[in-house]
Amino acid sequence: MSPGERAESLVAEFGITSPAELDIVAFAYDAGLEVVFDDLEGCDATLVGFKNRGIATIRRSDVAGRERFSIGHEMGHWEMHRGKSFRCRVDDPSDNLASDRALEKHADEYAAHLLMPRPLLMPMVKSVGKPAFRHVNEFAEVFRTSRTAMCIRLAQIDTLPVIAACYWGSALRWVARAPDVPKKWFVKSKLDDDSLAFDVLKHGKESQGKQPAEVWFDNDGVDEYEVLECSARGREGEVLVLIYLTDIEMMTARSNRSRDDERSFGFRGSASRRW
Ligand SMILES: [Zn+2]
Repeated sequence: MSPGERAESLVAEFGITSPAELDIVAFAYDAGLEVVFDDLEGCDATLVGFKNRGIATIRRSDVAGRERFSIGHEMGHWEMHRGKSFRCRVDDPSDNLASDRALEKHADEYAAHLLMPRPLLMPMVKSVGKPAFRHVNEFAEVFRTSRTAMCIRLAQIDTLPVIAACYWGSALRWVARAPDVPKKWFVKSKLDDDSLAFDVLKHGKESQGKQPAEVWFDNDGVDEYEVLECSARGREGEVLVLIYLTDIEMMTARSNRSRDDERSFGFRGSASRRW
């Protein structure tokens, strides 16, 4: 079972039928993990355990969803990596998305599925079609997660033709691509002046609309296509973007890059992470 499947099977075992019932501390307690909150320095969460009892210490945060994601992350370690101790940077799941540390990615995947299980999220996504940021905000509130965590989850839910990305200033910080989006589509590493995201970064809060695909991609022949762009301000200096590949031909286009290119361009390296 994948980390996500493990988390969702736990949610199913508890018979959860609504996001309000996702009591993450109760899940942890049931698994033998005590959750305490503290003013940790230098990390966001720690996990120590002995046999079947453990303690997850979570840094206090007033940012919506952050503590819950940290608890879900430590639960992931507890369920999948028992016997090890951890000091984690999990206040923003995108930090681990940009890293190549397998255990941290697995713990994030576990947390994302525990907090936003597919059976509860999918009906909401389907009811709106292609979520814009007003929907992302609504979903994040209902599931008590950060907006960043929700954007990444939407890109991984595998029914939307979407690429989620975050730019810090005009530089690409991370990107999460839906599994069905052809690997040839790499968003530009520098934000295009003609994108809505560029305007949002300079002046606004959020914006959405059809855009020529060449604003986002520099592939040959891309000028034939249009995409739907939704952009909103993220954390200080950041803009979050959802790019929907609304043209069916973009979704069926064959890859014209090598696997080495995919590894190089799929995620930003850890050097670009900010703590
Ligand atoms: Zn961790």
